[in-house]
Amino acid sequence: MKQSVAAERKNKMKWEENVRKVVPYIPGEQPREKDVIKLNTNECPYPPSPMVEKAMEEMQYQDLRLYPEFPEKTPLAAHLAKYHHVGEEQIFIGVGSDDVLSMAFLTFFNSDRPVFFPDITYSFYDVWADIYRIPYEVRPLDKNFRIRKEDYIGKNCGGVIFPNPNAPTGVLMELSDIEEIVKANSDNVVIIDEAYIDFGGTTCLPLLEKYDNLLVVRTFSKSRAMAGGRIGYAVGNEKLLRYLNDAKYSVNSYTMNRPALRLGAASVKDEAYFQEICGKIVRTRERSEKELAALGFTFPASYGNFIFASHEKVRAQEIFERLKEKHIYVRHWNKARIDNYLRITIGTDEEMDALFAALREIIA
Ligand code: PMP
Repeated sequence: MKQSVAAERKNKMKWEENVRKVVPYIPGEQPREKDVIKLNTNECPYPPSPMVEKAMEEMQYQDLRLYPEFPEKTPLAAHLAKYHHVGEEQIFIGVGSDDVLSMAFLTFFNSDRPVFFPDITYSFYDVWADIYRIPYEVRPLDKNFRIRKEDYIGKNCGGVIFPNPNAPTGVLMELSDIEEIVKANSDNVVIIDEAYIDFGGTTCLPLLEKYDNLLVVRTFSKSRAMAGGRIGYAVGNEKLLRYLNDAKYSVNSYTMNRPALRLGAASVKDEAYFQEICGKIVRTRERSEKELAALGFTFPASYGNFIFASHEKVRAQEIFERLKEKHIYVRHWNKARIDNYLRITIGTDEEMDALFAALREIIA
């Protein structure tokens, strides 16, 4: 009989001591059934721009014969540079922002001093730190889930990273506070992960004109409805990007596939559609906050496409399980400080109505 993976692992092999071991990041579940309401991975409930559909139809399968172009030399980079009013040499494109962030950890967090990030944040950061053997320290959020800027100023750290708005809390940090952190860390790279910035936050991109140690990371997975396309990018000082590209080309020259580069470019061209879906999500989020409050949930004001909510009476774990039985998926972490919270992605109005109906039953 075939040994189970657990049993196999117990049975130590001689070579195992030399393996690079890491506890991997666990992404949200991707259920196989079709009839689910999926509010667990912050995907966009709307399709990508019709221009993306057209670009897909126009693609030629023969194009796949050739290796893709270098991402920084593509129309996608040119469109992004124009969109953000920066030079093309200030854009780095990767396979989702996870790829961009991973490369940025590898490139910029290379001192013996610990990198700082919040205790409650994107749970991939400590995984990258572990796999690249980067020392790090987590800084606790305050009781209102705010990042305390003092924790990142005047400390002897080896770099700073956090999302703005933070995930999974949705809490936004003021631009002036971010500026203080960037300014105080001139001997470090500060990475601001703006995965959710398009849902009402203020971007820190203008700070790039003043500071050469800032890297801003973005994704097409949320506000551009292209999680399946795997496109992320960073904007930063030209010199910073040269180092980032050197590292990336030393790992894999051709990270981006040809279709993704084409489809991403089509998305950036359709500003009207982009604004329309972001607006719809923000409006649904505002309505959802009212509905959840009426049901007895509390949550910090969210600037993301999700709400991080806790119920006054019913435990998050129970709500999570009961929702799953009803084929509604949200996200729950069995982690200190946040184990009584659920992160609920904003879906369509119909999906949210189904969620509220289910919650009403569970809570009653
Ligand atoms: N940063 C944050 C804060 C996220 O929540 C996510 C989504 N899991 C990512 C980065 C990565 O997104 P992607 O790789 O799809 O661009």
